[in-house]
Amino acid sequence: MTLDEFKAACAALAADAPAQIAAVADLDAWTALRNALVGRASGRLTDIMATLPQLPKEDRREAGQAANAVKLEVEALLTARESGLSAAAKSGGDLDLTMPERRRWVGAAHPVSQVIDEITEIFRELGFTIALGPEAEHTWYNFQALNFPDDHPAMDLHDTLYLQGDLVLRTHTSPVQVRTLQQYAPPIRILAPGNVHRRDPFDASHAPTFAQVEGLVVDEGITFADLKATLTHFANRFFGSTRTRFRPSYFPFTEPSAEMDVLCGVCKGSGCSVCKNSGWVEILGSGMVHPAVIESAGLDSTKYTGWAFGLGPARTALARHGIPDIRILYDSDVRFLEQFAR
Ligand SMILES: [Zn+2]
Repeated sequence: MTLDEFKAACAALAADAPAQIAAVADLDAWTALRNALVGRASGRLTDIMATLPQLPKEDRREAGQAANAVKLEVEALLTARESGLSAAAKSGGDLDLTMPERRRWVGAAHPVSQVIDEITEIFRELGFTIALGPEAEHTWYNFQALNFPDDHPAMDLHDTLYLQGDLVLRTHTSPVQVRTLQQYAPPIRILAPGNVHRRDPFDASHAPTFAQVEGLVVDEGITFADLKATLTHFANRFFGSTRTRFRPSYFPFTEPSAEMDVLCGVCKGSGCSVCKNSGWVEILGSGMVHPAVIESAGLDSTKYTGWAFGLGPARTALARHGIPDIRILYDSDVRFLEQFAR
């Protein structure tokens, strides 16, 4: 036995081992192969080491190092294979490399947020800017400045959540109208999205906290024709080409007031359960800003006129998608919400 022969035996072991280790199918076969390759009692490496004393003394050190390097290499391969086999044994079988990868969940905007974003975009094109106000609001901004008489039922404890002092959780986004009129000089064109709170029961068509989008236009010479034209344009953009109708209504802060309906998107006007067989779906409340509101913000109501609207994006989402119960929107059930990912 020469040093070269010894090294060749080591190299042959190193060359054979990877394929043999990769080929073992279970832990029993792995144990048998380990014994055959690097086992202490027998095995190829032990056999090679047994020839060491036959080498010239001066070569034994180098031969020992060569054998040790092969031993480390083979043992590392064995260890890696063993953990792979153990994992496969735990999962009840060999690894199935054809298995499809796990589904990746991709986040998306909530259907109500999508409605708010689209409305914002449509009005942004018309020159509206975004205005925001506090959710904890002074009663004056929430009621008195908006021409609510002191005995108005909306101010009742049954309808409004009162906080400390004269603060309430705002019951609508209309206080932003007054705050904007106080802060900026006309011409004003704003959109005010935000959450509002009412002591409503949580049922199929009511939620105690919900989003609202307020719109306000104030300038010299603004008329009801501006209101109708702008809101009809909005309806056609948002719902696709549709028809609108305005019905007389009442709000303390607008005069005259009107609710706007659009043709039911589900039945196209012939009548269905979504539109309660009327063929129309109510979308928003609107009206000419009451002169008292303009005056309460410190502006001259003989010089300035305006119109405003308020819309519930959750209701709009229901109308658009034909969803029967508003509570589904707030359940955070991914099986429902994932339908609106885009
Ligand atoms: Zn219908």
